[in-house]
Amino acid sequence: MNIMPEKVVKQDEEWRKQLTPEQYQVARRKGTEPAFSGKYWNNHEAGTYRCVCCGNPLFDSETKYDSGTGWPSFYEPVDPNNVKTEADNSYGMRRVEALCSKCDAHLGHVFEDGPKPTNLRYCMNSASLNFEKKEK
Ligand SMILES: [Zn+2]
Repeated sequence: MNIMPEKVVKQDEEWRKQLTPEQYQVARRKGTEPAFSGKYWNNHEAGTYRCVCCGNPLFDSETKYDSGTGWPSFYEPVDPNNVKTEADNSYGMRRVEALCSKCDAHLGHVFEDGPKPTNLRYCMNSASLNFEKKEK
């Protein structure tokens, strides 16, 4: 069975109150944080990366790898139903945008130069993620 997660819908003003200005700019306004500026690109701890807006689990640290780009990069989401992708032709580029399937938060982009087994690179913004450390 293929059950899509329940949608989280909030008014723009509510997101603005809930998030920091940077999180709001990236997650709700499709911004991009500068490379090597976010808090997670160099995070190597074990745990789960959740959507900063709605808490939807998006990526596991096991699929995180050092892409050298300065953004947290993963080769696979926790569950394909949790991260949706859409064509993004903004800025004259053909890219694939990654969004939270629950609340439509902008997460980053997906590129086809990742490592095995998927050969995908989910190039994410730290500002769209909330890291939850694994309990030992
Ligand atoms: Zn979300």
